[in-house]
Amino acid sequence: MIIAVPENVRRTLDSLENAGFQAFVVGGCVRDAARGVSPRDWDVCTSATPGETAAVFADYRIIETGRRHGTLTVHFDGDKIEITTFRRDGQYSDNRRPDSVSFVRDIETDLSRRDFTMNAMAYNQELIDPFGGLGDIKARFIRCVGDAGTRFREDALRIMRALRFASELGFDIENDTRAALFSHAHLLKNIAAERKTAEFNRLLLGGAYSVITEYREVIAAAVPALPEKIPDAIINAPNVLETRLALLFGQTHSADVAAALRAMKYPRVFTREIARRVSRRDPHGVLPKISDLAVRGEDLIALGLSGREVGAALRALLELVISGEVENKREALLNKSRGYVRRR
Ligand code: ATP
Ligand code: MG
Repeated sequence: MIIAVPENVRRTLDSLENAGFQAFVVGGCVRDAARGVSPRDWDVCTSATPGETAAVFADYRIIETGRRHGTLTVHFDGDKIEITTFRRDGQYSDNRRPDSVSFVRDIETDLSRRDFTMNAMAYNQELIDPFGGLGDIKARFIRCVGDAGTRFREDALRIMRALRFASELGFDIENDTRAALFSHAHLLKNIAAERKTAEFNRLLLGGAYSVITEYREVIAAAVPALPEKIPDAIINAPNVLETRLALLFGQTHSADVAAALRAMKYPRVFTREIARRVSRRDPHGVLPKISDLAVRGEDLIALGLSGREVGAALRALLELVISGEVENKREALLNKSRGYVRRR
């Protein structure tokens, strides 16, 4: 496999190699390149210690991004490139962070501490893939590196990461990893709410519906008041966090929604806004119903939606109308609906 590494990243790798060290791009960028998607950012890892890396880039501005983890950010001709020393994680005693990390000189050790096979690949001229990440990407599988239960006990945030990736990438979760998700969900209580919520937001903004329904029990360990029955209106909902949360909690009492979102550390104003929207959807209120919408199921079928997509789209449209995002006018609603058809 050949990955087109951007010029400045290439030069960073070369500089480290010319100084006698190994260097690779690693993690999410290799995964995305292997999927045929352009990576958002390129992370570099190296056998050089942070001190050695700093010496190689002595002529550049360097920021110590995470001394403990061995990460430096080098300002390299207009790009900021994160360079992390190969490392091994020590013991984990809090289900989140290793008690210590130590620097190592071989890439395989570094790759073995990473969460999923697809994230445990490195590249420099050739692919380093000791755990079969490329095969898993081709098969569209999320699989832990090593024993899934052990990896989730080390760091329970990986549970939410697995689900977030499943939703974002539309991948399935391999059986052993899947079983371990369910048996270790209770450990999510040891993880800071902010961290869980950040992953949950990405989960909700991904393909989501099948992941949320299938792993509802797991996600409920991170999301208080998650409804038993996930409303299918989110299937076609716009990719707007507020809208999706309001749909998700649409049938929940607004005081419970507010308490749940506060516990998840959403900002106060944001929480109030969602609770307000949810309360406005109260079935006892005088809000519009689906039958009040300026489009009907037939209109959506004419656009190409079918089966339960139609009902889900109508509910999503209703939410938009209620929240004031879209006017209850035929053309406006049809426009939105065309977006739903395209997104499938
Ligand atoms: P994206 O940035 O697209 O969300 P990513 O894979 O780059 O995905 P990051 O959180 O940026 O995710 O992490 C970079 C890499 O670090 C991952 O690809 C993975 O190899 C490793 N990693 C991140 N978080 C963990 C974790 N909790 N446990 C083990 N490895 C991790
Ligand atoms: Mg990343």
